[in-house]
Amino acid sequence: MNLSEAPVSAHTLSPADQLLVDGVLAGQRRSLAKAITLIESTRADHQQRAQQVLTALLPKTGAAIRVGISGVPGAGKSTFIEALGVWLIEQGKKLAVLAVDPSSSVSGGSILGDKTRMEQLCQLEQAFIRPSPSAGSLGGVAEKTREAMLLCEAAGFDVIIVETVGVGQSETTVAGMVDIFCLLQLPNAGDDLQAIKKGIVEIADLVVINKADIDPRATAVVRAQWKNALHMLRPASPNWSPPVLTASALHKEGITDFWATIENYRQALTPTGEFEAKRKHQSLSWMWQLIDSGLRQHFRHHPRVQENLPALTKSVEAGHTTPAAAAYALLGYLKH
Ligand code: GDP
Repeated sequence: MNLSEAPVSAHTLSPADQLLVDGVLAGQRRSLAKAITLIESTRADHQQRAQQVLTALLPKTGAAIRVGISGVPGAGKSTFIEALGVWLIEQGKKLAVLAVDPSSSVSGGSILGDKTRMEQLCQLEQAFIRPSPSAGSLGGVAEKTREAMLLCEAAGFDVIIVETVGVGQSETTVAGMVDIFCLLQLPNAGDDLQAIKKGIVEIADLVVINKADIDPRATAVVRAQWKNALHMLRPASPNWSPPVLTASALHKEGITDFWATIENYRQALTPTGEFEAKRKHQSLSWMWQLIDSGLRQHFRHHPRVQENLPALTKSVEAGHTTPAAAAYALLGYLKH
């Protein structure tokens, strides 16, 4: 993505984009959907406009709580989010559900994201459900979701749920954009080991064993295993030890406990400044990821790099040039 011409102020908004901004601020769903479509567009002029719109809306973002929910297909994510969402709306909240679906970027197919999964929630005016952007790399999909999240906040949604599937890198990516990252687990002994292997335990702020109704005894065993696994780790914050809850999304059980835990998390980390510090850290790390990928793209497209890369690649393969010498020579072309 080429951000080099992205503006830093919103003063150049066209009248049409100003209308879009006003519509989003007024909480109009049509404007919100249009703005998200604009940020998801890969056209360079759309991207530039999208950054202007986002810049104009930025002062109105940040008030929501951002919750990541991950779990393998079938863990009960959509059932859980629907039960939670309906309950939150009953409490007077407005909820947006966004998805980061790694499968959509790899195969064009999608594990998450078809709207029919949350039928009840879809029909509620106070809910906004957006499937995963389908184009681009996981980084691209995540970038769009992160920006869509900001748009939803500007539109007045006070809870943002970012859903992802427990495969590949997507969990780390989502953990890097939300305030609290929750793992939805099945009561199958051994699943926790998978999570440990993948390094997922470290990024979980909260674990929920769903489908507790099926086998309460197995649920208790798995819960104890998770508690042990989490206990062995040094917590990311001295003020928060990730709890392990149980739930039965199908029977709408464990939902209020879950939300009380989210509120506790915010209350525990706000006075210490950690809540805000995490967001600042996420923004800066996002900026650096974009810089890294921008530089990489600039490098790949540089004519002299393109000209010399094949020969130098062969030379490194053949052992005639050291990797470092080749890298320095290629990077040197960027200066000219
Ligand atoms: P997702 O792929 O993670 O979104 O999972 P779904 O929400 O689609 O759930 C997969 C299946 O598990 C569906 O048939 C649900 O009805 C069922 N399910 C979800 N939560 C529970 C639960 O708490 N208890 C039971 N018994 N079934 C559940």
